[in-house]
Amino acid sequence: MDCPICGAMVGESNYPNQVCDECDRQAVNENGDEPWHGWPPGEEPESEDGTIHMAPDRGENPVFIDGEKCWRRYRFGGWVTMLDKHDCESLEEFYREHDIIAGCDGPGCADRM
Ligand SMILES: [Zn+2]
Repeated sequence: MDCPICGAMVGESNYPNQVCDECDRQAVNENGDEPWHGWPPGEEPESEDGTIHMAPDRGENPVFIDGEKCWRRYRFGGWVTMLDKHDCESLEEFYREHDIIAGCDGPGCADRM
């Protein structure tokens, strides 16, 4: 498939409207800043006792690339960014719009929530 924003090759993807890495790097949040991922700003736990806290697979949503609203699915310390062509209110609505079934890992499903 091709990047829905710039048309560059993205390759095989289970995700609808997945944008390429080049466009993804230009993503900003509503305020025009770089989107956070892992710990929300100010919520990162102290690690003074030497324990390493695994950052959760969370991050800012939606994000904007070139003014286009996109949703990110955060997992395994990374994410996939998908262009929203339906102006959805939430990632869940975006999934519904694209028939991505949460919790289903059979063929045709993107993966688990
Ligand atoms: Zn692109």
